[in-house]
Amino acid sequence: MALKLYNTLSRHKAEFVPIDPSNVRMYVCGPTVYDYAHIGNARPVIVFDVLFRLLRHIYGPDHVTYVRNITDVDDKINARAARDYPGLPLNEAIRKVTEATEKQFHTDIAALGVLQPTYEPRATEFIRRQDGREDMVSLIDALVRRGHAYVAENHVLFDVESMPDYGRLSNRTLEEMEAGARVEVAPYKKGPMDFVLWKPSKPGEPAWPSPSGIQVPGRPGWHIECSAMAGALLGPVFDIHGGGIDLTFPHHENEIAQSRCAHGTSVMANVWMHNGFLQVEGEKMSKSLGNFVTIHELLNTKKFGGRSWPGDVLRLAMLMTHYRQPINWTRTLIEESYSVLSGWKEVLKGLMSFQEGNREYYESEEIPPSFIDALADDVNTPRAISLLHAMAKESDAHTSAYRQLFVSGRLLGLWTFDSLAAEYKEEAERSVDIAPYVNRLINARLEARKRKDFAESDRIRDELAGMGIALKDTKNKETGEIETTWEIAR
Ligand code: AMP
Ligand code: ZN
Repeated sequence: MALKLYNTLSRHKAEFVPIDPSNVRMYVCGPTVYDYAHIGNARPVIVFDVLFRLLRHIYGPDHVTYVRNITDVDDKINARAARDYPGLPLNEAIRKVTEATEKQFHTDIAALGVLQPTYEPRATEFIRRQDGREDMVSLIDALVRRGHAYVAENHVLFDVESMPDYGRLSNRTLEEMEAGARVEVAPYKKGPMDFVLWKPSKPGEPAWPSPSGIQVPGRPGWHIECSAMAGALLGPVFDIHGGGIDLTFPHHENEIAQSRCAHGTSVMANVWMHNGFLQVEGEKMSKSLGNFVTIHELLNTKKFGGRSWPGDVLRLAMLMTHYRQPINWTRTLIEESYSVLSGWKEVLKGLMSFQEGNREYYESEEIPPSFIDALADDVNTPRAISLLHAMAKESDAHTSAYRQLFVSGRLLGLWTFDSLAAEYKEEAERSVDIAPYVNRLINARLEARKRKDFAESDRIRDELAGMGIALKDTKNKETGEIETTWEIAR
């Protein structure tokens, strides 16, 4: 098995060779925390969680460092804070917005089975650090010192002309970019594509002491945040950088420019990976179209498809499409995921008892090499899922296919022994809890039948059917009495 990844930088799928196999390093751009994360935002979170799990499987859980940041300084945050808390000082309002949103994000993605990354830095903690190492201000100072950035009207701008291969990631020349981009025209810019590293803060806005040469306090631009956090936690050159396809330009292009020029390196990350976009029912998700849906709404409300959906169902639905393809998020897709997942759980629960004593027996099973091969082929989750189907089909008490289904699905993050045990227990408790009640109704029904009150006995049967309980009447051959047994209808 060789892990192969598609690299946006080379536009090829190639074998992945880590810089240091004892510490494989990956950075993924995280959310800007001003509002609920939508289901499109969930895509990079889930896709790179699968890659994180795969890397841990291949290199060992202690040999992978995964950083996914929280962007907690941004104009969108300031605007939301001013709108939602007009009575509060802006900085206090901002704290309220970012803390609540970050908490919501964690709750949402935990329900989607996403592991904690190794580090989850907040941008505001890396603007200026005690030791001045790899923080935003020190990076900006280095860029100015090296002739890649300049100070103008209390801004610091990156000078794209100073970097001969600016544009390599998005594969465009400066001229093409200038023609295509909606660039902000500002009198203090030397070139139209020059971008902001630092800008002055208005009174009341979050502000930090500025880089050298600027007397008024200010705040960082968006792109420099990721360069600083990645540099501080992973070093100047690391293995994998990920995010959604929309981030390729300008965000990732600019991250590369900043990091390479500040450190004097020829790459920032060796492999750049981008997930395709998610559409909802065939259209771009947007608030004005009314098809905008948050993770929270999918999990907890009936807004999408008339019901709420379990997190594992959403996760599987997301993985049914290869990460580089666009995904069409539809009710039909989620329903299909629901029925597939229930089918697999049925197989697992039918064949294994999720009791502590069995844990070792299941967890020690080997994941089939073909399953790892599928994931190692540029994270081909659709192929991995088709193998899960095959395992479920082959499963019976005499093969180990169901144990393979268990360990393989666990690598995809669909379940753990404990999550299945909890579901199993809940179902068992549900049937135990209702037993006395059901038995009382069954006796009442038998009494009614003896009195020939068939209206009442039918009513009781219907009431039980409404609870999902199916009755079966049999005649006791010796006594001639009718006896009723029951089960939970599937
Ligand atoms: P943002 O908060 O807009 O910076 O987005 C956070 C992450 O979600 C980035 O990696 C984006 O590329 C990704 N993202 C945003 N919208 C979508 C979408 N509709 N489909 C897939 N990924 C998305
Ligand atoms: Zn970033």
